[in-house]
This record gives sequence, C-alpha cells and structure tokens, in this order.
Amino acid sequence: MSDAESPSDEFEPIEVFPDDETPDLRPGADDCYKCSTCDTNCPVAEVDDDFPGPKFQGPEQWRLKRKEDTSVDDSISKCSNCMRCDSACPSDVPLSQMHNTARAEYVDEELSKTSLTYWRNRVLANYRTSAFLASKVPRVANAAMNFGPARWAMDRLFGITSEREFPAFATETFREWWEREGGADGSRERARAARERRGEEGEEKKVAYFHGCYANYNTPAVGKAMVRVFEHFGYELVVPKQRCSGTPMFANGMLDDAERHAKVNVSSMGDLVEQGYDAIASCTSCSMALRQEYPELFDIDGIEDLAENTWEALEYLRVQEDLSGELSAATVEDENIAELAYHAPCHARNQGLDGQALELFADLAGVDAEDVGDSCSGISGTYGWKSEKYDTSMKIGDEMFEHMEDVEGEVGMTECPTCAMQMEHGTGYEIKHPLEIVESALV
Ligand code: SF4
Ligand code: SF4
Repeated sequence: MSDAESPSDEFEPIEVFPDDETPDLRPGADDCYKCSTCDTNCPVAEVDDDFPGPKFQGPEQWRLKRKEDTSVDDSISKCSNCMRCDSACPSDVPLSQMHNTARAEYVDEELSKTSLTYWRNRVLANYRTSAFLASKVPRVANAAMNFGPARWAMDRLFGITSEREFPAFATETFREWWEREGGADGSRERARAARERRGEEGEEKKVAYFHGCYANYNTPAVGKAMVRVFEHFGYELVVPKQRCSGTPMFANGMLDDAERHAKVNVSSMGDLVEQGYDAIASCTSCSMALRQEYPELFDIDGIEDLAENTWEALEYLRVQEDLSGELSAATVEDENIAELAYHAPCHARNQGLDGQALELFADLAGVDAEDVGDSCSGISGTYGWKSEKYDTSMKIGDEMFEHMEDVEGEVGMTECPTCAMQMEHGTGYEIKHPLEIVESALV
C-alpha cells in the first residue's frame, strides 16, 4: 500500500457540528449497507407513504451532512422514536442516536421558538412539570383536563388531540404513599423480615427504584406492586430523588431539557450504584433511557456505571432470583386477570425483553397470557397525543387492537404506560402491568 492509500489518509475527519460536543456519527453512517431492513420495520413508514423512513433519517442524512452542511429534513418530526429500526438493523448502525441528534438539531435550528408547535411539544415533553402541578389538586385537574370545551380548545388551538381521554392523576402519588409506609426505613424492616422467612438472613439485597413520572403521578399501583414484589424477595428499596427519564424529551428534540433531568438522575441514582445498589425501573422506556440513550447522548460523570447497573424490574428478578420457579408454584385466584392480552412495548423489544412476561406466566396457574403480535401500539409516548399524528397513531395500533379483541377476556397487559393508554383507548380494556400480576401471585 502506498503512502497515499494509507488508512490514516483515507479518513479525513470533518466537523459535522461546528462548536461541538455532539457525537460524530459518520462512522455509524458508513456501517449502513442499505439493506432497508430498518425501513421495513418502521411502523410509521408502513402507514404513511410520505415518511421517508429510518434509512433516510439516519445514515443518509448523516452522509449528506458530510458533503455539505445541509439542514435536517422536517420529516424527522414524523419519526415517533419507537426505536424498532434500532433493534432491526443487522449492522448496528446507531439509528436512534442519529434520529435523536437530528431531531434536536431540527428543533434548535429550524423550528420557530414562538410557534405553537414548539410550545405544544415543549409542554408534552415536560409532562413531569404538568403532572407535578396537577398532583397538588388532582380532583380539580382531572375534571378540568376532561372538560369538553377545554379539550376542544386544546385540540383546535394547541394541537393536543381531543380524541383521547386524559389519564387520571392519582389522589395520592406513589412517593406520598412510600413516605407513609416508612420510606427506606420501613422497607429495610420489611425486607429483613422477608429474608428471615426465606432463610437468607446473611445476604444484603439493595435496589434503588426509578419509578418515572407515570407510576408516581398516575398509576401508583404499579409502584406499590414493584415495592411489594421486591420486598417479598427480601430487597431493601430506596426511592431516590429523580426527574423525568427524558424519554418524551428525546422524542420531541428537547435534548437540553433531557440533559438537565438526566444530570439529576445520574447524580442520585449513580451515587447509590457506587454504594452497591442496582438501579431498577418498572417502565421499559425509563430503563431504556438510563441504559442506552443517556450514554449515547450525554457526557455526564457516572453515566456508564449507571447504564451498566440499570435493569428492568422483572428482568432483574429473573436473573437474581428464582422468579419463574416461584410463579410456577403459585396460583392466581382473581378471575379478573385470568385472561390477559399481552403487548410487548417497542422499547422492551429493543432491550431483548419482549418475550419475558409470557415466558414467566406460562406456568402460572389461574392466568392465561396471550401475545397480541409484534406490532407497535402506535402511541409512542407523546406522539399519539398530537392532533396531526392521531390518525397515524391509530392506524399503527389497528393490528394490536384486533389481536387484543381475539383474546378471551377484557384485560390487557404491558410494561409501558403509554402503550397501556393506547390499548385502553383502542379497546376499552383495563390494562395491567406484569408486576401487578406477580404481586397477585406471590404477595
Ligand atoms: S437496517 Fe441498518 S444497514 Fe440496513 S439500511 Fe437500515 S441502517 Fe442501513
Ligand atoms: S424510531 Fe420508529 S418511527 Fe422512527 S424511524 Fe425508527 S422505526 Fe420509524
């Protein structure tokens, strides 16, 4: 090989973003060999002929940027951030990292900061702020959010669809309940008693629970099930200070907001990881954020350690405990949950967790959980709440609704709170989290 052809000469780094802390994703773009597997796995491209698909949003846009400083195409705002393309790519092209980065650049440089779309997206992305305020007066908030004329105005003037019912805010948040139950001290006592019962007195079992916004403000039953199931196995829980995982912010291109929240989470959860705790999430999008999106998008001290020690709740118990053994010896006597229509969230799929709930409940007496197929639910967090995306969201969800209706019974099950909203919206079924089923079986 001549000097002119040496590898060091072949690669001429250029600055993709000028004043740059943004990751250089060109090598990832070069890994794409244009097989189009990502496009055939994209639920938005399947129902919207105008959406150019993940191959264009990811590697092709980054290649264009290499040649000239082109602006990000506005079709990036049609990507729902379901991340199905990410797990489908056989060449490990960092598609979701490319999409998140491109979306942030689009919002920074192309979207007017005085537009209603920007402010609508900002409000949706910062759900935690609205939920925090609503949780102070939950009954008033619940009535106001679903008051017909207010819904009409929010749809027509602000672009938040009036087709969906707003989820109810709990009259007691998960964290309020947790404090009432004695917090970490109460958990330590209950866990010690459980270990004694299980003959595990010498062992130290400690986890830090990342409950996310939805289990705190809307479905504290999921957080309570998580606490009771882990304490049943002898785990002492702590519930550290936390902010939003950032998932709705990534999906809306609000990376500065997401980073602000991530700094709080990495600091509080990371300190506990250093002390020997494992980080556990009950929401698969939250575990996804802490594990994959944080290290892909931010440079924060301790981020890698936190990512390596973050688990989804049932995944953790499957690995650390004999969860399937205990479930196969148990019986659920609640007829309400005898037949379950299970939907695997896309973000669970991306973590390789899509089969676990069905496997776990296969030998659980009194429960028959059926898979409703591998389609996307279509809501993708805040996506299906936008007036202009509502029809697309429902078209994507159609296949799942049909399969749910084929299952006997009228109860669904999923790990993701917004998939649960879509399942309920499309079928009218009550939706459970797998942790609630484990709680019914073991606790
Ligand atoms: S699946 Fe991966 S390799 Fe195939 S076209 Fe998409 S990005 Fe490229
Ligand atoms: S994240 Fe989902 S919606 Fe976006 S391009 Fe990938 S598959 Fe399509």
